[in-house]
Amino acid sequence: KAKVSGKSQHQVFATKMHEQALKRLQLEADLNQAIANEEFELYYQPIISFTTGKITGFEALVRWISPTRGFISPGDFIPVAEETGLIVPMGKWILETACRQMQSWRSQFPEAEQVTMSVNLSSRQFSQADLVAQIQETLIVTELDPANLKLEITESMVMDDVENTIILLNELKELNIKISLDDFGTGFSSFSYLHRFPTDTLKIDRSFVSNMSQGSKNIEIVNTIVILAHKLGMDVIAEGIETVEEKEILAGFNCEYAQGYFFAKPLKQDDATELFVNKAQW
Ligand code: C2E
Ligand code: MG
Ligand code: MG
Ligand code: MG
Repeated sequence: KAKVSGKSQHQVFATKMHEQALKRLQLEADLNQAIANEEFELYYQPIISFTTGKITGFEALVRWISPTRGFISPGDFIPVAEETGLIVPMGKWILETACRQMQSWRSQFPEAEQVTMSVNLSSRQFSQADLVAQIQETLIVTELDPANLKLEITESMVMDDVENTIILLNELKELNIKISLDDFGTGFSSFSYLHRFPTDTLKIDRSFVSNMSQGSKNIEIVNTIVILAHKLGMDVIAEGIETVEEKEILAGFNCEYAQGYFFAKPLKQDDATELFVNKAQW
């Protein structure tokens, strides 16, 4: 058997595992500190109405700016926060910060009355027994009208426990909170359940939008998703629109809303506020 530079394969492997475990522990420790040290910041990406060209909502997207690690994208730390349970206090902070921001815009700008703030929920948050109570409390504390709040959940979250999800979503609907089904098409939706969820909006995942340039079949798929959503009484947000071509195809399909770098990237609070000041229109 060949030995690599004197070390056995097993030793090399064990060292690597050890390094990875240490790295992971350090990440968890830093993440734990990050909440207390207020290293999180919310960015806000506008969602635009195809019919008016105006802002219809914002999606709150969390950022971790660590003094030692720099900028860490949510794709890298949300899963860790989810596994360790840190997502629960973090999610609470995100929800409250987003609601507070939305209420601040409402009090400054009359046109913000019709605007919604979308907040992503993680699956761990979604299965918290006191989720509805926590959201209600946040709305009271921040004085935000529930009609200005929209929660984003994913297919895998709703499919996990269908009957409970339906009860939970109906409770949220009764409070007048809106629901979006995020990243649609990437999970394992069962079409036979889709109509049972009281969701207001379906968000077509960015991968479908960017694949449209690859050929007419991909365009047909997007068209079909829009038709399906409309037949089920949902409106549609196309995620990740980056080009004028993508924008025009989606507009032609009577898709209601657009989100993507073509319009705006996720913005710092001040830059998002500027959009109201300037009465931004696309
Ligand atoms: P998501 O909820 O599907 O958010 C959309 C992601 O697509 C965001 O990435 C956004 O910056 C990005 N995006 C928007 N338009 C474009 C575009 O035109 N082109 C490209 N290439 N990307 C675009 P981000 O902020 O890195 O977030 C990634 C994911 O992390 C989110 O996907 C969401 O699942 C999760 N996440 C972000 N913030 C939160 C949060 O506050 N709570 C929870 N639970 N999850 C969050
Ligand atoms: Mg989202
Ligand atoms: Mg999404
Ligand atoms: Mg997505």
